[in-house]
Amino acid sequence: MRNAHFGLAAVAALASLNIVSSTSPHNRDRPARARTDYIVLHTTEAPGPSSLQKLRRFGEAHYLVDTDGTVHRIISPNRVAFHAGRSMWRGVTNLDRFTIGIEVVGYHDRPITAAQIRSLRELLNTLKRSYRVTDDRVLTHSMVAYGAPNRWHRQSHRGRKRCGMIFADPRLRAQLGLRGQPAHDPDVRAGRLVVADPYLFDRLFTAPRQAQARATPTPVSAAPPPAGAREVEIRPGLTAWDVAREFYNHPSTVYRFPDGTERRGDQITNWTALRPGTRVVLGAAEAEPENPAEGLRILGRDGDTPIALAGDEARSGTTLYLLADGQVKGGNELSDAEFARLPAGTGVLVGYVNGGAITARRSAFDICGIRWRFPSTYYRFPDGTLVPGHQVRETAIPRNSLVFYQP
Ligand SMILES: [Zn+2]
Repeated sequence: MRNAHFGLAAVAALASLNIVSSTSPHNRDRPARARTDYIVLHTTEAPGPSSLQKLRRFGEAHYLVDTDGTVHRIISPNRVAFHAGRSMWRGVTNLDRFTIGIEVVGYHDRPITAAQIRSLRELLNTLKRSYRVTDDRVLTHSMVAYGAPNRWHRQSHRGRKRCGMIFADPRLRAQLGLRGQPAHDPDVRAGRLVVADPYLFDRLFTAPRQAQARATPTPVSAAPPPAGAREVEIRPGLTAWDVAREFYNHPSTVYRFPDGTERRGDQITNWTALRPGTRVVLGAAEAEPENPAEGLRILGRDGDTPIALAGDEARSGTTLYLLADGQVKGGNELSDAEFARLPAGTGVLVGYVNGGAITARRSAFDICGIRWRFPSTYYRFPDGTLVPGHQVRETAIPRNSLVFYQP
């Protein structure tokens, strides 16, 4: 009975918590989770009111804990919220299917308020009891988020986000009533992922271990940009990737060069030529929905090659090429000649499965289960348009549409 309704004791605990119902309009169309393995903690990286508005609009968390300790319930705790995006833990991906997501108003490397600590502790106690989640299964978004190969990292990698990083601090965890935490990254250890953010890795795993051993913390490899900073200078050891993460090539990220000229992230053609002294101005990227279009990349945009877009997975079966003639081929199905001559404009999905066509007898749900309406799932309609899962209605998906999803 992992998903049993709150028992009486849990209800009593909740009574001392100020929970406000701020239900997302998406709540009713979210499926129930089959099970609950983890609780994932996030920091909003933005002020409370705008965060609440965005989380409700996209149904991106179960709860939001505001700075005054108020807890907003956005998605019913037994349903799916889209909070983890591209995620993996112990080899299991798409963790929205198995997790509860809590957003805490604040920043990944700044203390939260005493009121937030009190409320979050209560909320965690209740949820841990109701869903039987042990303390070492209360994770941070930065622990589970991972990136598909790209021009900065040729392999799938940890370090896509620093979200919720402070919740790996053993002192804060103790205040939240959490007595255990992951001692290492299981997917890095197993070789499924590489470390793309040594600073983050240190904060999540090495520093807590040392704190527990009462040793002094080691110096970290790369200092982070200041929390909430909107403008950060690139220097040796601090790349555009370090500063802007997955938004490095996004239109909302602006690069201000030493000579005073500026370019948007999507206008930069040569990333290796970015010089120290270039300032990175972060825009509204934090207000983006988690991961809606992260999967789709376009060949030839800014001279991008398959290797730049998919790294070591360019020739793998889980990199899908959406060819102009309507065919879809895995990287392993392309001949060397085809691979060499892939035209600009070809859509590329890295880390995806081609689920095949929807027919009268085979629904989107039959193909990929509850992922059928995940933002990371894509439908290619017979007319060639590509629509993400959170923008489709099942009855309006044309027959013979292809379904691509993250396994
Ligand atoms: Zn997050």
